[in-house]
Amino acid sequence: MEHSIEIVTSTDGQQVVSSRQVADNFGKTHKNVIASIREILAAENQAAKFFHETTYESRGKMYTEFLMDKSGFSLVAMGFTGKQALQWKLKYIDAFERMERSLMIGTQPEVLKRITHIEEQLSAAGILRPFVAPRYTMENLLTRYKQATGIDRVRTFYDDIGKWCGVKVPYANSIRIPVRDWIVVNLSLEHVQELVVGFETHTMTRSTDGYPVSLNGCFGNSVEWDRTLKEFDHKCAYCGESHEPLMAEHVVPQSVMAREHPELCDSVFNIVPVCKICNQSKGTSFMPTWFKKQPTYSDERYWRIQQHQSRYLLNTKEGVISA
Ligand SMILES: [Zn+2]
Repeated sequence: MEHSIEIVTSTDGQQVVSSRQVADNFGKTHKNVIASIREILAAENQAAKFFHETTYESRGKMYTEFLMDKSGFSLVAMGFTGKQALQWKLKYIDAFERMERSLMIGTQPEVLKRITHIEEQLSAAGILRPFVAPRYTMENLLTRYKQATGIDRVRTFYDDIGKWCGVKVPYANSIRIPVRDWIVVNLSLEHVQELVVGFETHTMTRSTDGYPVSLNGCFGNSVEWDRTLKEFDHKCAYCGESHEPLMAEHVVPQSVMAREHPELCDSVFNIVPVCKICNQSKGTSFMPTWFKKQPTYSDERYWRIQQHQSRYLLNTKEGVISA
């Protein structure tokens, strides 16, 4: 016979199971299960809150029954041993957890759906620490953020996340749900990944205009590279052609940058997408001198490169690439 687990909501809103069902599933007599519960209650006052004594009717007679929540169940099931008992314990824990989850979904469907989606995507992408516990992870991000920026205002953290992702993070009093839940729902998945990677690897910091940037640059962060490609309309930053594949060009040559500031070599402000022809032609030349000599030179594209650099230029490193 197939036994099922039925979790019900008690009058005070708790998720509970009945002692009769537990006895049935674990192959015990109901009398024995009740005896175990009474033993637990006698031994520990604190346990009373996990159990609710009630009655049920069978053939015109009333019998005692207990309703127990997840903690109560765990205490009772602790005494059940054997392989089958273990399997049932796991089924119960799973049933309780699914119930809790579905109740949460009932209150904030968009947040829960979103978290599930992010979990799946992040785990599929092999990101360092998936959003297994989104709230904890947001805390974690905040801690990393404080370490990277020295700023410990939560609101500034939210504002920076907004800047990073190109959205305006609202204030708590203007939305129904908590701000961090709003963030989970409204940020694009790629931005969440970017933040997780950036903060987890201690590579997030702030640019001169307060814009959060990743020190990993394009090489450490595919999302940032994609963003840079978009910035240049998927065209070579020098000649403006869309020859594929575009490659990551170091505006200040790697060899030069490596001597002065090796830590900034691959930082995004020094990286622009270019075609293979331009990349080889420029080599280790000084960019402005080389670029201005090219037949494909344009003021507009030169200006774009400068815009890109100043956007990502770091506070502490000002002047490094005044090239
Ligand atoms: Zn080119």
